Amino acid sequence: MPAYPPEPWRVKMVEPLRVTTRAEREELLREAGWNPCLLRSEDVYVDLFTDSGTNAMSDRQWSALMRGDEAYAGARSFYVFEEAVRTFYGYEHVIPVHQGRGGENILSRCLIRPGTHVPGNMYFPSTRAHQELNGAAFHDVIVDAAHDPASEHPFKGDVDLGKLRAVIAGCGADAIPYVSLAATVNMAGGQPISVANLTETCALAHAHGIPVFLDTARAVENAWLVKQREPGWAGRTVAEILLALCAPTDGAVMSAKKDSLANIGGWLALRDPALAEQARGLVLLYEGLHTYGGMAGRDMEAIAAGIAESVAEDHIRARVAQVEYLGARLGDAGVPIVRPAGGHCVCIDAAAGLPHVPRTEFPGQTLACAVYLEAGVRGVERGAVSAGRDPATGENRWPALELLRLAIPRRVYTRAHIDLVADSVIAVHRTRERITRGLTFAYEPPHLRFFQARFKPAC
Ligand SMILES: *Cc1c(COP(=O)(O)O)cnc(C)c1O
Repeated sequence: MPAYPPEPWRVKMVEPLRVTTRAEREELLREAGWNPCLLRSEDVYVDLFTDSGTNAMSDRQWSALMRGDEAYAGARSFYVFEEAVRTFYGYEHVIPVHQGRGGENILSRCLIRPGTHVPGNMYFPSTRAHQELNGAAFHDVIVDAAHDPASEHPFKGDVDLGKLRAVIAGCGADAIPYVSLAATVNMAGGQPISVANLTETCALAHAHGIPVFLDTARAVENAWLVKQREPGWAGRTVAEILLALCAPTDGAVMSAKKDSLANIGGWLALRDPALAEQARGLVLLYEGLHTYGGMAGRDMEAIAAGIAESVAEDHIRARVAQVEYLGARLGDAGVPIVRPAGGHCVCIDAAAGLPHVPRTEFPGQTLACAVYLEAGVRGVERGAVSAGRDPATGENRWPALELLRLAIPRRVYTRAHIDLVADSVIAVHRTRERITRGLTFAYEPPHLRFFQARFKPAC
């Protein structure tokens, strides 16, 4: 079992949780159309649906809220926020947005023309949706190991440079507005990209005149995993590694709801002044003035404080260790999980865990329901339901990975909660033969269907 470092914080305020009975959960899940996304949070005991915006803020962040300057234009809080992003991420132009997808929208609109191509290290649903909405086709150029749950590759977020070269050769550099990288790669299970690979990928793209943009939502967690796993980086601080990850890229899209320990917010960070000017123009239309971008002044203060806390070694060590602990407990009990455990989540290989449920009956979604019924723990499907349909053909995509993702909010749950999660997932795994059928759609929305879809038991 990996070390479980004592939390580098103590609890100052509590939020009571409601315990439900199995009979209540069966009724609640039926009402929610067999989609845990549609449950009310008060009906969930341990909520591992996402680590996004679910962070517990520190007393320093709460007190920073009081310093929020709510001026419409040129608020002091914007300059505090801008300074924090510049210092810790190293980009010159900082454009606030209401959350990550606001930045994705702006960047995609600025750079993508219909008929172009965007290569990336696996897709993220909202990122790819914006790229496709603007007319680009997405090309997955991640290493093959990322699609193999059992592979112990330490950097499953790495780009396969051969695949990227093939996309550049096949589509032509002129038809590639940018390369879209993520650190860590959420859909692969929070897997990191190495500094070496990221640097080489940027060199290759730049040699063809193609810029590279980094999704930094979990780049601090990526930096911690680099420190643990990449030769030559063990002696560097997480703050230094974060800067090294950003340095070769042309800009970043950020959801501050992840690493930055905030509940809302984000930014688009750029180096090119002309692109930054264009982006500020669009932020004005879609988000808000370029000195608040859809955030309140107090949000920007909380994020600025959160960024500084996020790179503290004791924080990030305890954060990732909690995830590793859950992964080890499940793995030791024989639950098939994506190896190695990621920076923010443990992903259960539902296709391996429920081999008797056909892919067309969505084993990931089925497992999500079973885990909720067991003890009120909510995870989210990351498989065929999340992958959606191919916009060109209208056919279901069948990704290699069919997962149940358990994402751990930062600084929210104790070790006893994590043990309850482990015990209930292990209990479902031990009785998996009882799950004989999966689910089929009762209602399927056109975009990001996993959020609002309704299901019915297959028969
Ligand atoms: C959450 C997330 C986004 C989108 O950010 P929002 O703040 O939810 O809009 C983009 N990329 C990754 C990797 C994410 O995890």
